[in-house]
Amino acid sequence: MATGDLSQTTVDVLAIAAHRDDVEQTCGGTLLVQQSLGWRTGILDLTQGESGTRGTAEDRAREAAEAARILRVAHREALDLPDGNVENTRENRLKIAAVLRRLRPRVVILPYWQGRHPDHYTTATLGYESCFAAGLSKFDLPPEHGAPHRPYKILYASLYADVRPTFVVDITPHIETRLASLLSYRSQYGNQTTGSALFVPEDDIRERTFSTARHYGLLAGVRYAEPFVQKEVSLVDDLMMVPVQSI
Ligand SMILES: [Zn+2]
Repeated sequence: MATGDLSQTTVDVLAIAAHRDDVEQTCGGTLLVQQSLGWRTGILDLTQGESGTRGTAEDRAREAAEAARILRVAHREALDLPDGNVENTRENRLKIAAVLRRLRPRVVILPYWQGRHPDHYTTATLGYESCFAAGLSKFDLPPEHGAPHRPYKILYASLYADVRPTFVVDITPHIETRLASLLSYRSQYGNQTTGSALFVPEDDIRERTFSTARHYGLLAGVRYAEPFVQKEVSLVDDLMMVPVQSI
């Protein structure tokens, strides 16, 4: 069962993540960039956050809806995969493929395929295989989920991973908005005492997210950026237009 549906229309760019608040940390600025360029953006969270140290799944649903409003996404929904136990199974690929056929994104953003949290790196493989399955005409989904659809481009948000990005997206105009979307998860990030050994206060979140974005911005000569990895090579039309100064 999906919850938190904001609409039932298609999107151009869909970010898929294991947990509510992952997108806010890894590619929320990029979703704001795409929205400001006129594209419809969306978020699919695979879990509902029932295993979190703080707050309930209901708290997190409310916070995720608020974050979606701040990120100006056209659609956000959450599947019901178990938080902390995201597995690449046929059942889960079916659930995600059904969403892909309904939302029909051209671009899908997944978490990078290596990392500390198993839910994150499993989502990379699960998401990729779901994108493949969504395009198979014989894949076993009822017709009400829509015609087969395979996203054109799959990108990996690599901010959690210690890898060199293929490219970065300049999010400088959106850095404050992205932080505001993350801070809407009051049950996770507000200044409070429950689980304080695990969580940092708001000021530290601001410093941490800004310094990470600054690091990736410096790699490309802009102020704040978010990093991505793509498996394909980049194609260049005109050498005169290749960005990022060499010396
Ligand atoms: Zn996460």
